[in-house]
Amino acid sequence: MEFLVVGGGLAGVTAARTLRSLDATAGITLIEAEPTPYYLRPGLIDVLAGRKTLAGITPFPRAWFEHRKISYRSGTAVVALDPAGHRARLASGETLAYDRLLLACGAEAAQPEILGADLAGVFTVRSAADVERIRTRATAVPTAAVIGGGWLGIEVARALHDLGLAVTLLERGPWVLCRQLDQSGGQVLAGILSSQGIEVRVSASCEAVHGKREAEGIRLSSGAPVAAGLVVISAGIRSRTSLAVEAGLATNRGVIVDDHLATSAPDVFAAGDAAEWRGHVYGIIPAAREQGEVAARNVIEPGSVRYPGTTPSNKLKVAGVDLLCLGNTQPQGGPQRELRHADPTAGRYVKFVLGVDGELVGAILLGAAELAGPVEELAQAGVPAEDDVKQLIESLT
Ligand SMILES: Cc1cc2nc3c(=O)[nH]c(=O)nc-3n(C[C@H](O)[C@H](O)[C@H](O)COP(=O)(O)OP(=O)(O)OC[C@H]3O[C@@H](n4cnc5c(N)ncnc54)[C@H](O)[C@@H]3O)c2cc1C
Repeated sequence: MEFLVVGGGLAGVTAARTLRSLDATAGITLIEAEPTPYYLRPGLIDVLAGRKTLAGITPFPRAWFEHRKISYRSGTAVVALDPAGHRARLASGETLAYDRLLLACGAEAAQPEILGADLAGVFTVRSAADVERIRTRATAVPTAAVIGGGWLGIEVARALHDLGLAVTLLERGPWVLCRQLDQSGGQVLAGILSSQGIEVRVSASCEAVHGKREAEGIRLSSGAPVAAGLVVISAGIRSRTSLAVEAGLATNRGVIVDDHLATSAPDVFAAGDAAEWRGHVYGIIPAAREQGEVAARNVIEPGSVRYPGTTPSNKLKVAGVDLLCLGNTQPQGGPQRELRHADPTAGRYVKFVLGVDGELVGAILLGAAELAGPVEELAQAGVPAEDDVKQLIESLT
């Protein structure tokens, strides 16, 4: 058997590793477009802030792949798929034959239409090369703005602040992290970030980046100016679907997969940020890892393992802020119950969401890191948790 993995991010590398652990003799080829060896994308924030080098976030050197007899080819992209002929074409023109293929080509940063976004000094963050370019620019200008107050935007803002720039964080929604936090939580978080020296502006819609040839600032829809010689747009992700589209696979926001992570084409599977399962493109590490593993199992034996979905979980990696969001933190409708505890002066906001049977389905822990362990256990247990949750809240008062 010949297995071909397209994309050497977390989903692709997890899949290649799982394939090898299940089949000692199959041919496994992993094609990665970026020239750099596999690195942990969340670690790019530390590289941006100058706390780590790229080598410091590279867990597997080439020898790791060689040792596992995985043919790892970086710096070359798959440019076309022929699912009927079971072939993939590389940028070099070379054609690779496969028996089963996994699309793990991830996502790129979304590029919303913003006037002036093509000026020098305007970036998105997805790759080591992006971070390198941002760091170079950061040495040349004193001010920066980050457009988008989601997880990544907040972490980038703090990294730029740590590099010594005066940073404005712009969020067009009514509060930061508005998809995970409610208003009270968002306000507490904004207060902490402001106290750290980051200027946070919410309900701040960016009309244009202005400057002659290089970014000098941002004009908000309100007309207010924001000084920024460096602008980072952090407006979400867009799954890389072009290979799949051109090969005639079913796609929507991502490459559509069924419960076995199989695409609409025979012997082609997809996982990670590239894949859309039951309408979800998760865009997070736990899903990329879990899907990479399940997809590999199905590559070995089609139809053998169902993907059950991933419980979203994210921790903000900003010094001085302990924020964990777990599961469904913003339930829409339904009979859920919410229990909260807020202490803005202590930088603390805690919210628990209970499902129909009183089980814990979601939690926000801001400034309450000590509750993370018990809360994760309760969420996994799936049993009625109201009494436990009340005790946890009492332990904070
Ligand atoms: C700066 C940053 C910080 C993040 N922090 C967090 C965090 O704290 N927590 C969290 O849960 N998530 C975080 N994420 C998101 C997380 O990194 C992604 O969900 C995860 O990397 C997805 O893995 P993936 O393998 O599906 O895709 P990717 O990591 O995007 O990897 C896909 C790979 O495929 C390659 N590729 C694309 N097209 C081709 C082609 N045609 N041929 C060959 N190769 C190709 C790409 O070069 C890429 O290396 C962060 C993302 C970024 C950018």
